[in-house]
Amino acid sequence: MEQQYGFISLELEDFRTWIKQHQVARTLLYVQQHHTFIPDYSHFTGTNHAELQRNMQRFHRTQNGWADIAQHFTVFPDGRILTGRSLEKAPAGIYGFNQHAICIENLGNFDLGGDVMRQEQRVAVVGLTAALVERFSIPPTSRHIVYHHWFDLASGQRTNGSGRTKSCPGTAFMGGNKLVDAEQYFLPMVRSAMPASQIESRAPLRYYAAVSSSTASIRNQPSRSGKKINLVEHGAVLRIYDSHRGWLRLSAQQEEWIWGGAVVRVERAVVSAPQLNIRSGPGTQFRIVGSLLEGQDVFVYERRANWFRISPDLGGWVAGRYLAMV
Ligand SMILES: [Zn+2]
Repeated sequence: MEQQYGFISLELEDFRTWIKQHQVARTLLYVQQHHTFIPDYSHFTGTNHAELQRNMQRFHRTQNGWADIAQHFTVFPDGRILTGRSLEKAPAGIYGFNQHAICIENLGNFDLGGDVMRQEQRVAVVGLTAALVERFSIPPTSRHIVYHHWFDLASGQRTNGSGRTKSCPGTAFMGGNKLVDAEQYFLPMVRSAMPASQIESRAPLRYYAAVSSSTASIRNQPSRSGKKINLVEHGAVLRIYDSHRGWLRLSAQQEEWIWGGAVVRVERAVVSAPQLNIRSGPGTQFRIVGSLLEGQDVFVYERRANWFRISPDLGGWVAGRYLAMV
């Protein structure tokens, strides 16, 4: 494992080990696939991984005004994987769809007529995605492994490719950038790269909670004197496994605790209607600000009669009868 400019550089095999030991408090439900477009293969010399990653970080900070590099991971043409933004922070990947996502950038231009993805990179993209969905118990389906192309750029709504979209991760990415291409080519490869599922004895998840203070510390004991091991930001949704004197445990295996006063309880739900309108207030008299597709996961922050307020990044209220609580 090498480190340069603050990025960790890993071969796929090392990544599998590293991610198993890497603790993340944020609830991760989705994996996004992107291509960098620029830089592309012509910028890659075979040894300048960290320089390219640093240049992307600079560009995202200075040109786009973001806090950090947009993506959590970059996959290079030779199959090497570099870390980027902390997994504890939402990426700047797909407008409207970042809160619970992991963002992967594949270095290259994979539109038709652009770069032809090398076999080493193909294996690494599939293997990285498989390792992530395995580690965070994300179902390897097209609801949870998504392409940038499937989201409208202006509204952030999932349209599966209609409306104003980018071609990202490329019209020739793994056989094509459409939903049917992912289901035919990419997702079966991811599933076959997952280890035969090992059944772990885990403490059951009790509920979910969202961070309500601007930031909150995670400590290695249920007490103010516990060592700070991580910091989570406002809006992050956490899994709660246990409680002790006002402190909440965030991991089934590890000692990770957060003060209960820093979070609010939320409920996880899945959209059960083919399409569900999001409205600016709790009733049909309020204007429509967006929509959700069947099977999409949401978190419910508040209930007012039959209207439920959902994750702040989706921004509004939906009719509760079209949500199935999980
Ligand atoms: Zn993209």
